[in-house]
Amino acid sequence: MASDLRQAIVEVARAMFNEGLVMGSAGNVSARAEGDNAMHITPTRVPYPDLAADDIVTITFDGDPIEGDGIPSSESLMHGAVYAARPGVRAVVHAHPVHASAMAVRRQAIPAFVDEQVVYLGGAVEVSAYAPAASEELAANALAALGQRRAVLLANHGTLTVGKDPEDALEMTRLTERLAQIWLVASSGADAMLLPADIVDSEIELYRMMQNEGGM
Ligand SMILES: [Zn+2]
Repeated sequence: MASDLRQAIVEVARAMFNEGLVMGSAGNVSARAEGDNAMHITPTRVPYPDLAADDIVTITFDGDPIEGDGIPSSESLMHGAVYAARPGVRAVVHAHPVHASAMAVRRQAIPAFVDEQVVYLGGAVEVSAYAPAASEELAANALAALGQRRAVLLANHGTLTVGKDPEDALEMTRLTERLAQIWLVASSGADAMLLPADIVDSEIELYRMMQNEGGM
């Protein structure tokens, strides 16, 4: 079971790289491990094409080693903070997709503008307050801006998304990037329209129901 989960992390990390959502060995993928305070996470500085299930390290939410020889991702604190605060979250993906990162550089949220966004992500994709990469402050800021939703933009940095498994969390990254791409095109003209507020409210209700059914 645990090795299946490590393999799932490897496959999702590779897909993230192959789809251009990160370059080099940037970004990181994790999954909640068995126990109260444990996660599997990609190691730092291993090129994705070379990554194997044995390279995935297991650590506590605070970054203390449990199993594995590699150096855990430098963004481990951010992953750990999400697992500690959101008991239903089973996987986290952090990436640097071009369009979503551009929104993060503008420090503008992606407002609620298509139905699937609200239903799958829980509403607007907010931007966290800026903090340096890998810092405890970034972990706190990311968590605060994520709230109970499934995606957040990290100011001047990238994205963080959560899911019920690594593939699901990556799918939320893909959706966030797609939304950012559409929004940047749409908002370059003067006539971009948001969803009506009452529709957003009812779709947030639907999102909450789906989250409760999925235990998230
Ligand atoms: Zn990053």
